[in-house]
Amino acid sequence: MQAFAKEGQAHSETTLLQNLQRLAQEARALEPNMAVKWKAMAELRPAAKAAGTTASEDDVWLHLQATAEVPLTCQRCMGAVLTPVEVDQWYRFVATEEIAMAEDDQSEEDLLVTEPQFDLLAVLEDELLMALPLVPMHEDCPTPVVLSTGETGLFQADEAGEAPSMGEKPNPFAVLAQLKTKK
Ligand SMILES: [Zn+2]
Repeated sequence: MQAFAKEGQAHSETTLLQNLQRLAQEARALEPNMAVKWKAMAELRPAAKAAGTTASEDDVWLHLQATAEVPLTCQRCMGAVLTPVEVDQWYRFVATEEIAMAEDDQSEEDLLVTEPQFDLLAVLEDELLMALPLVPMHEDCPTPVVLSTGETGLFQADEAGEAPSMGEKPNPFAVLAQLKTKK
């Protein structure tokens, strides 16, 4: 990571979503060519000197940016909804898990522990998973919302534009259908 940081070069790559297994599990109707574009850039910054210590090494900081469109299940119509996901995160590398735990509370940036087998893709996947919306939804669902099954014809009932006859309780679903067609 030190060497990578000294180079100061951004590393850009495209990774297929199907290769990120945990993310792929969240997805629906994943196509083989769907991918996340990401860019990582590391840099050295002078270490913040804690009182009483003489920090000599620079800290390694990592900037990770990613954009992807992940097909998720719309929670309204249950169809697939292509959901844009973005990651833009700074990390600072620390030597040990203990330091990470101790400094995490005061740090605005995320802390990563320097490991020989540092797995950048795993970090990227974590961030993408956290960036997924809790309730994915179309802005406008492409298909009519099915509120109940077994009552076909509900949405056709008022197609002629006739007002519900007096004394009859308006069907809430029919009212909804009217609202939808009015806009
Ligand atoms: Zn939908």
